[in-house]
Amino acid sequence: MTVRVTPLLNGLDARLPGLRELYEDLHAHPELSFQEVRTAGVVAARLREQGWEVTEGVGGTGVVGVLTSGTPSGEGPVVLLRADMDALPVEEQTGLPYASTRTALDGDGNEVPVMHACGHDMHVTCLLGATALLAANRQDWRGTVVAVFQPAEEVGGAPAMIEDGFLDRFPRPDVCLGQHVAPAPVGFVGTRPGPLMAASDSMRIRLFGRGGHGSMPETTVDPVVMAASVVLRLQTVVSREVAASQTAVVTVGSLHAGTKDNIIPDTAELEVNIRSTTQAVREKVLAAVERIVRAEAAASGAPKEPEFEPLDSFPVTVNDAAATATVQSALTAALGEGHVFTLPRTVTGSEDFGTFGSAFHVPSVFWHFGGADPAAFSGIDLGDLLENGIPATIPSNHSSRFAPVPDPTIHVGVTSLLAAAAQWLDGV
Ligand code: ZN
Ligand code: ZN
Repeated sequence: MTVRVTPLLNGLDARLPGLRELYEDLHAHPELSFQEVRTAGVVAARLREQGWEVTEGVGGTGVVGVLTSGTPSGEGPVVLLRADMDALPVEEQTGLPYASTRTALDGDGNEVPVMHACGHDMHVTCLLGATALLAANRQDWRGTVVAVFQPAEEVGGAPAMIEDGFLDRFPRPDVCLGQHVAPAPVGFVGTRPGPLMAASDSMRIRLFGRGGHGSMPETTVDPVVMAASVVLRLQTVVSREVAASQTAVVTVGSLHAGTKDNIIPDTAELEVNIRSTTQAVREKVLAAVERIVRAEAAASGAPKEPEFEPLDSFPVTVNDAAATATVQSALTAALGEGHVFTLPRTVTGSEDFGTFGSAFHVPSVFWHFGGADPAAFSGIDLGDLLENGIPATIPSNHSSRFAPVPDPTIHVGVTSLLAAAAQWLDGV
C-alpha cells in the first residue's frame, strides 16, 4: 500500500479538521433526489479548495472531481470513487442536536419532511475526507482519481450521469469503488464477491373496471375486488414459483381505489416493488407478475387490459471477484483483523452504483460499513450478525431514527476508501 492510510481510530481528526462539522451540516440540510443543489455546492467548493478539477451539473446535480498525480494526464491507473448525495421524505425522529427540521416539495408538489435517513451525508463526508488526503499526499501516489458525487441514488440517478456523457467527459477507470453505511456496529465492514445487492424493479399497475352504484354491483366490474385478488395472488409468486434456494421479494406498497363507500370506482392503482438476486429470477418474477395481473383482470371481466408503467429499476450490484479479494485484504490491513467480513448471501437492498462499472465494462467493488453505536450490540456475536441479520432494535436505513455515530464512522469510511484506492494507484 503506497498511499498513507491512517490506521483505524488513529488521529484522522488532526489531519482532517472539520469533517465532523461537515457531516453535521450536511445532516441538518438534507435534500431530496435531484434537488441536491446546496449539497452539490458544498462539495464543489470543497473540491476546488483541495485542488481538484471540478465539473458541476452532471446528470442534474452531480459533481465530478478529477485529480491526476505523478503522471501525464491520460496515463497511469484510474480509480473511480463514488458517493451518493440525496436524502429521503422522512420526518427525522433521532432527537440529535443536528437533526433535520427541513421540508421540501416532492415530485408531485406535496410538501414533505426531508431527512438523511439512508446515510448518504456520511458517504459525502467520507469521500470529501478521502479527496482531501489524496490532494494533500499527492507525492505518495501516481495515477488519476475520479471522485463522483452522484445525485438521486434513491430513485436510480446514476444512469442520468451516464446519459449526460459521463463516459466521454471523464477518464475511463480501471476500477469503481463505493461504500454504504449500514446499521451494523462501527468497525464492521461487510462485502462479498459476485452479487452483493439485489435488483429492484418498481412498477405502477392500473386496473380497469366499470364503476357504478354500490347497491348494484351486477351493473359494474368492481376494480377493488380485482385489485384485492391481484394483491393476494401476487404473494404466491415467491412462495410457489421461485425455488426455495433462490431469493425474491414481491411487495405491493401502495393500493388506491375509490372515493366513497357506495360508489364502485372505475379503476384501481397498485405500486409493486420486486427484488431479485439473479437475472433469471428477475425475469421469471417480472413475467409472473404481469401474467397474474392480466389473468385476474380477465377473470373479473375487465373491459380493458391493465396498464403497466415501469418506475425505478436497479440492476443486481455485482462485485468483481478478483477486485473484491484485493479490497478485502486492503481493508483488513487498514482496519485490522476481525473487522472485514464476507457476507454469506446477497443483501435484498438495492443500489445503482453498479451502473458506472457496467457502463465502462470495468470491475467494481461495493462494501457496507457499520455506523451504529457498538454499545447497542453488546452480547451479540458478530458471527450471529452475519447469519441472522441486524437485531430489530437497531434502526435500519430509511428509519426516522437512523443515526450513525459520526465518530469513528467517518474515520472508518475515509480509511476504507483510501485503503482500497491505494491498491490501484501506483506508488512513487
Ligand atoms: Zn436508501
Ligand atoms: Zn442509500
